[in-house]
Amino acid sequence: MSFNSLGLSDALLKAVSKQGYTTPSPIQQKAIPLILERKDVLASAQTGTGKTAGFTLPMLQILSQGQQLRHRPIRALVLTPTRELAAQVYDNVKEYSAFLDIRSTVIFGGVNQRPQVATLRNGVDVLIATPGRLLDLHNQKLLSLANVEILVLDEADRMLDMGFLRDIKKIMSIMPAKRQNLLFSATFSKDIKALANDILHHPILVEATPENSTVDAIDQKVYRVAKGLKSDLLVKLISDGNWEQVLVFTRTKHGANKLTKKLISSNISAMAIHGNKSQGARTKALDGFKKGTTRVLVATDIAARGLDIPLLPHVVNYELPNISEDYVHRIGRTGRAGASGEAVSLVSADETSFLRDIEKLVGQRIPSEIIEGFEPDPNASTEPFKPGQGKQRNSRPKNANTSNSNRSGNANRNRNSRNKRPNRHNDRKE
Ligand code: AMP
Repeated sequence: MSFNSLGLSDALLKAVSKQGYTTPSPIQQKAIPLILERKDVLASAQTGTGKTAGFTLPMLQILSQGQQLRHRPIRALVLTPTRELAAQVYDNVKEYSAFLDIRSTVIFGGVNQRPQVATLRNGVDVLIATPGRLLDLHNQKLLSLANVEILVLDEADRMLDMGFLRDIKKIMSIMPAKRQNLLFSATFSKDIKALANDILHHPILVEATPENSTVDAIDQKVYRVAKGLKSDLLVKLISDGNWEQVLVFTRTKHGANKLTKKLISSNISAMAIHGNKSQGARTKALDGFKKGTTRVLVATDIAARGLDIPLLPHVVNYELPNISEDYVHRIGRTGRAGASGEAVSLVSADETSFLRDIEKLVGQRIPSEIIEGFEPDPNASTEPFKPGQGKQRNSRPKNANTSNSNRSGNANRNRNSRNKRPNRHNDRKE
């Protein structure tokens, strides 16, 4: 199938071809015609599937065909959980609208609102926003959503995880009831289904990949290692393997900083990206990583969510996530767009139960190796680390690893434990 058969205008086809895309991805093939038919869409799609173009291209076509008012009210709103994702969606919107008379901008917290307000004042057709800053500016009467025709909730599951449900509901109440709604989510928990029920009208369900399946192209590997030897092992793997672009996940912000220092002291260029970093520092880290001047990007889960880094060859779980589904999100950063990738996990004794949960979720045993000189500590306890031990955002219930009888049950339990800990302004903190 080609982009030509999807019903997109010449201006959009030209923009797509400028990006070098030749074939629409599965989510694009399914979602674009439905959105052009003005249907509400509930889409299951992870980052890396091409979902952003999947909703942006038809959205731009609808907007460019509709009536353009002189003062340019906001006609399409894209809500994202994090600043980084908002910035990336904005970049994509700009690229795809290069040959259209469509104005767009992005707003998010953590930076001065003044430039954002100035741009809004000139009128924009498409606004990409995180919920907190959007409501802030709305409360200050600096923007209006009274003319929104299309609403996109991107990574809706993560927005709920981050405690944005109340903000989302408030935002719904300040938009016209009659509009087209598109909801994208990597997972479909009970809460997401409830949100979809609330917001979408007779939605059409679109699935890009089976839920929680790991990408076949990804070569997954576990190295069993003593906890205290992980950083040395990582240095060895990066150096011996000549890894040039490595995304490393740590569980905590503190852990990310510490590991970054260690890598730098081993002559491996590295930068950390997490919520205690200023927006400027995060952007710099991401840019350096994309350009190749920074070899290793050390990230926490929420900070890394939605980062658009195509063709990433190596992803390392320096610590396994205590939420099994996060493993799938993390390793989805490699093997993108048909390229092969490698996902490596450094697993110490106290992560044994997390590994078991992950293997249940992905439905396969991940091959495990021990490297000489980096053996696991035979005397270390296999008790999982306790909540509060430098935890970042979620704590695992103490006995959560004892009764994983089925896949979805496990995932839901993890999610439920998370949902009890609302933290609505996490996009600023994390
Ligand atoms: P996304 O899932 O929206 O974050 O997109 C992941 C990456 O795939 C981005 O770098 C896009 O530029 C790229 N991409 C999106 N659609 C296509 C396509 N049809 N062909 C090739 N690459 C694409």
